[in-house]
Amino acid sequence: MTSAPHITEAWAVILAAGGGTRLAQALAGTCGPARKQYIEFDGAPLFWRGACAFARVQAVRGLVLVFPADDVERMARVVAELYDRDPLGLPWRVCAGGARRQDSVRLGLAQVPGECPAVLVHDAARPFATAALVRRVLAALAEGALAVAPGLAVTDTIKRVDATGSVLETPERAFLRAVQTPQGFALPPLLAAHARAQAEGWEVTDDAGLMERAGTRVLVVAGEEANVKITNPADLALLAPAHCAAPRTGWGYDVHRYLADDEEDAKLLAKARPMILGGVPIPRAPRVIAHSDGDVLLHALTDALLGIACAGDIGQLFPDTDAANENMPSAVFVVEALRRVRACGYRPVHADLTVVAQTPKLAAHKARMAAHIAQLLELPAGSVNVKATTEEGLGFTGRKMGLKAVAVVTAMPG
Ligand code: MG
Repeated sequence: MTSAPHITEAWAVILAAGGGTRLAQALAGTCGPARKQYIEFDGAPLFWRGACAFARVQAVRGLVLVFPADDVERMARVVAELYDRDPLGLPWRVCAGGARRQDSVRLGLAQVPGECPAVLVHDAARPFATAALVRRVLAALAEGALAVAPGLAVTDTIKRVDATGSVLETPERAFLRAVQTPQGFALPPLLAAHARAQAEGWEVTDDAGLMERAGTRVLVVAGEEANVKITNPADLALLAPAHCAAPRTGWGYDVHRYLADDEEDAKLLAKARPMILGGVPIPRAPRVIAHSDGDVLLHALTDALLGIACAGDIGQLFPDTDAANENMPSAVFVVEALRRVRACGYRPVHADLTVVAQTPKLAAHKARMAAHIAQLLELPAGSVNVKATTEEGLGFTGRKMGLKAVAVVTAMPG
């Protein structure tokens, strides 16, 4: 095999097709997604972080994202939405993975344009790989290497054991490297090695191993300590990035109008709901115009939670143009917003809410509202406060045309 000097461009293949079994088991039954590559980090699924690192490297010309075969159509839509929000300036393709990692790589490589001289293969479960690492791997390819893996010297002494656990040998530590991704390859020899693996039934755990078996020299360049693989439940703590370690405060505000006594508009009449505040039905109160159940207090609370998660607002998540949200109990919005807060590594510790209404009188209901909201947020009763006030006859609440609510939620990392 001749060397391939002056490789100056590459496509990246990001593998997000694994099941993440250990994490899936830990997350089963919790609010989290069951596949680790979908765990949210910085407001996007884990695989997106790798995509962003590649996009910062000029020599990277395109991305292939490999997803589980049973989920590829949905993930194509998710990627399209992520691109809308955060255009990376790179062409992208999505494809279905296979049963084993090496199958997913092979299927991903089939999406790389044939004329591209090189490819970077990366595991979505390594979200901390930096653009500098990508450049280091590419630099080694540019200097003529056909196969490059980032690696770290090991600090533990490594033993090779047999099936019974008996030590067979202790390799000299100075010559051991723990390898990472992204791994870089000249495309033709990698395609050839995958074809051979397929034909001859090889089982490998990474592409560097595949190239090694195919007889290609694999160069190890310096990896990054922080480029860890999210594998076990304890690793999830790593996803609370340093800049997020401070408490967060979310603020929410919402208004709903009352149905006027003389209202004749059929559309408004159809949207008039009995008043419910903080999940508590309020008797002998004006009816509230709403698409959902019109719980102004839970809407303000939802927006406060979404503020903590940096996840936009309630109108984005639950549009009032969506028939599915008609008459929706607002607790559903709170539960989803809370899931997002947790997915980004935070937990609410306190909520302070105020309803502003000239009518009805709400003092008698405040304690029940607070208790219900504490239950929704899974907080002790003493951690939620609900206040009620008027605007002294001023403004639209003073004229009894509607009511408003504000909510402030404090959340801690962890
Ligand atoms: Mg509302």
